[in-house]
Amino acid sequence: MIKEEKICNVCGKLKKLGEFVVSQTNSDGRKSRCKPCSAIISKQWRKDNLQLNRAIQVRYYNKVKEAKNKTQVEYIHGIEGLTEISQHLKNL
Ligand SMILES: [Zn+2]
Repeated sequence: MIKEEKICNVCGKLKKLGEFVVSQTNSDGRKSRCKPCSAIISKQWRKDNLQLNRAIQVRYYNKVKEAKNKTQVEYIHGIEGLTEISQHLKNL
């Protein structure tokens, strides 16, 4: 017997199959969550993901900034012996 209704695993309501998102991996051809729930979830997911991505980007940026500063500091320390020369070059 072909099921024409199923229970959404998000809102728990019995709904017509047509109210579920089409899925090729599911045995009944529909996802386990209804369209309104899917819309809410994907909207929320996108929002969460955006915040997460932003957080990752900020963390990455800070890391790069940190690393850049470190290498610059190391670089500066490395050329400390050349300060006199660079100072001399600046004065040229
Ligand atoms: Zn639902």
